[in-house]
Amino acid sequence: MVKSSACLKKYGDPELQKNMVVWDVPTALEIGVIPKKVYCNQDMVKPLEQAFKNIINRGLVGELKTWDGCFNIRKKRGAVSMSLHSWGIAIDINAAWNGFGKKPAMTKELVKCFTDAGFDWGGSWSRPDGMHFQLSKI
Ligand SMILES: [Zn+2]
Repeated sequence: MVKSSACLKKYGDPELQKNMVVWDVPTALEIGVIPKKVYCNQDMVKPLEQAFKNIINRGLVGELKTWDGCFNIRKKRGAVSMSLHSWGIAIDINAAWNGFGKKPAMTKELVKCFTDAGFDWGGSWSRPDGMHFQLSKI
């Protein structure tokens, strides 16, 4: 799993926002609640594009209920290390139904759209963060 120390090494101080880009999501992928633009790390563009394609191709657009953000400089919930949101390589979706520490309410199929595209899912952690997906490697 990607650690904040590795992010700090590769991307530097999150405040500098060195690797951040405004990704203009291709029109063909702007379906349901998929955003038109995402402010994210440039390393997120390809995996996120693939995840969105998977969601559409697998007929799961209706399961993506809310887009709850990507870039956000903050500490991990209940920890001292920085969240990977600080470098724009994590996203949250369907937050209202997948609270931190709660049993995730997300189908295996939706989770797989992201894990197949190169993401780790927070819902499988010992303290589940079901809304959360982050790059599995940087
Ligand atoms: Zn998150």
